[in-house]
Amino acid sequence: MPVSGLGPYDDANIFARILRGEIPCKQVYEDEHALAFHDINPQAPVHVLVIPKGPYVSLADFTADATPEEVGGFFQSVGKVARALGLEEQGYRILANMGGHGHQEVPHFHVHIFAGRPLGPMLAR
Ligand code: AMP
Repeated sequence: MPVSGLGPYDDANIFARILRGEIPCKQVYEDEHALAFHDINPQAPVHVLVIPKGPYVSLADFTADATPEEVGGFFQSVGKVARALGLEEQGYRILANMGGHGHQEVPHFHVHIFAGRPLGPMLAR
């Protein structure tokens, strides 16, 4: 069920609970800016989520309210995760869903990394 990418941050969302260690994840990377873990319902042989540590609902408030250090540090972390997973030679796709039309389901900003096979056209036709 898509969620709004706007509005107040809900501390009870599933990624907030993962960040607090209340529920487990299959972690692949962590630094001061980001946590990366395997998606529970993978859509490709490699499907990893990278989330910032701060309370941001979507790309909208992340880019409006986070500091340049948080934004820059987070996107550097996305690149580090892909590099650490050895994805650069074959290539990969990153994607961030926002709000209803973007079909965002979890109201904590996250970037998907897909890889491990040719990923086809950018959007379903
Ligand atoms: P989005 O539609 O961009 O909000 O994507 C949310 C993603 O979170 C989906 O791909 C889900 O499979 C994934 N997801 C939901 N709950 C968990 C969880 N507990 N651990 C890992 N991935 C999850």
